[in-house]
Amino acid sequence: MHQDPAVRIQDYQVFGEYGDVNPSISDAATYTFLSVEKMQQLFSEEVEGCFLYSRHSSPMNHFLSQALAALEGTEDAHVMASGMGAISSCLLQICSSGDEIVSSRTIYGGTYAIMKNFFPKFGIKTNFVNITDLDEIKSKINDKTKVIYCETISNPLLEIADLRELRKIADERGIKLVVDNTFSPMVVPAFKLGAHIVVYSLTKFVNGTNDCVAGAVCGDHEFISSLKSVNDGAAMLLGPVLDSLRSASILKNMRTLHIRMKQHSENAMHLASELEKAGIKVFYPGLPSHPQHKLITSMIDAKYGYSGMITIDAKDFETASKLMILMQEAKVGYFAVSLGFYKTLFSSPGSSTSSEIPKEEQEAMGMTSGLVRFSMGLDNDIEDTTARIMKCMKECGLLK
Ligand SMILES: *Cc1c(COP(=O)(O)O)cnc(C)c1O
Repeated sequence: MHQDPAVRIQDYQVFGEYGDVNPSISDAATYTFLSVEKMQQLFSEEVEGCFLYSRHSSPMNHFLSQALAALEGTEDAHVMASGMGAISSCLLQICSSGDEIVSSRTIYGGTYAIMKNFFPKFGIKTNFVNITDLDEIKSKINDKTKVIYCETISNPLLEIADLRELRKIADERGIKLVVDNTFSPMVVPAFKLGAHIVVYSLTKFVNGTNDCVAGAVCGDHEFISSLKSVNDGAAMLLGPVLDSLRSASILKNMRTLHIRMKQHSENAMHLASELEKAGIKVFYPGLPSHPQHKLITSMIDAKYGYSGMITIDAKDFETASKLMILMQEAKVGYFAVSLGFYKTLFSSPGSSTSSEIPKEEQEAMGMTSGLVRFSMGLDNDIEDTTARIMKCMKECGLLK
């Protein structure tokens, strides 16, 4: 297997039925069989190149899944209708009533909410921890714990999970390490560093065009098959199925992911350094001032940089709000949630993407109301963009 995920994806060739350079889109919910035996066989096992019903799998979803497996370097993968569909199916596949999860508390708001408010309905309890505190994590694992869950680069404070150390802890206890690598595809080889299972919201960097939601679970063949099982597979039975037309467009966009990640990272590094020099409090893993800069440097594939997410402290909510509106007027980007777009996107996490997390807990995590999260775009003149942002910062009183 090649070291570089971009090469692995490029080496993954699928032709259409006439030798088309992109695979043909399967326009079908169901598939015909030539014998009763073959259909019976497909209900009990997977047969390469055979499809039964599109909630189980379809040719295009299979192709996109294989591209995701190539991205992460896993044996297999399965794509789903959203990142939340992938995360919830994955965790429900592993956990039964009475089981527990140990999760980072600085995670995507929707993931936090499903663990905190929804899973308890099924008797699944989550203990939230500071993911940078390995002793706290060990102390929260007990006989019922089945999973350690974290994001490689957390939302919105961009803390780094030490995947190598977390894997050691998971192995000592015989449990699974599940990692959401949505913020750092290609940048951090999460599976190689120790994740048993890697989940993605494809909605963000991987697709990169903000035209749909989608998700994926990457792991070994056994786990992915279990997710798809007609008898007890969460993906098959809960039904978060991605449409074939969408998976075709996501696959085409994945072909340029490596170029986009380099540009997102380069732009983020430039802006983060300039803002820090100007005296703004900046959270960016690529800056030596980031508390875990050494750790993340040991984890990344250097040619893809430190990814495109930056968080700044704009002092208070009023200043943050003013700044975002000014930046939108200056055509720096859009005031919108989500990330990984060609245009820079910014939002204030406390009132949007992390609003599911109660205020007291936000404070305990160090999330203040003046935070502004940037997903750096693919700007071709980052110096011009930086100058526009600085001008907005002066106008709202954040810089002199
Ligand atoms: C957006 C996001 C999700 C949820 O993905 P959807 O595609 O919106 O369902 C999960 N994790 C992270 C880190 C995200 O940014």
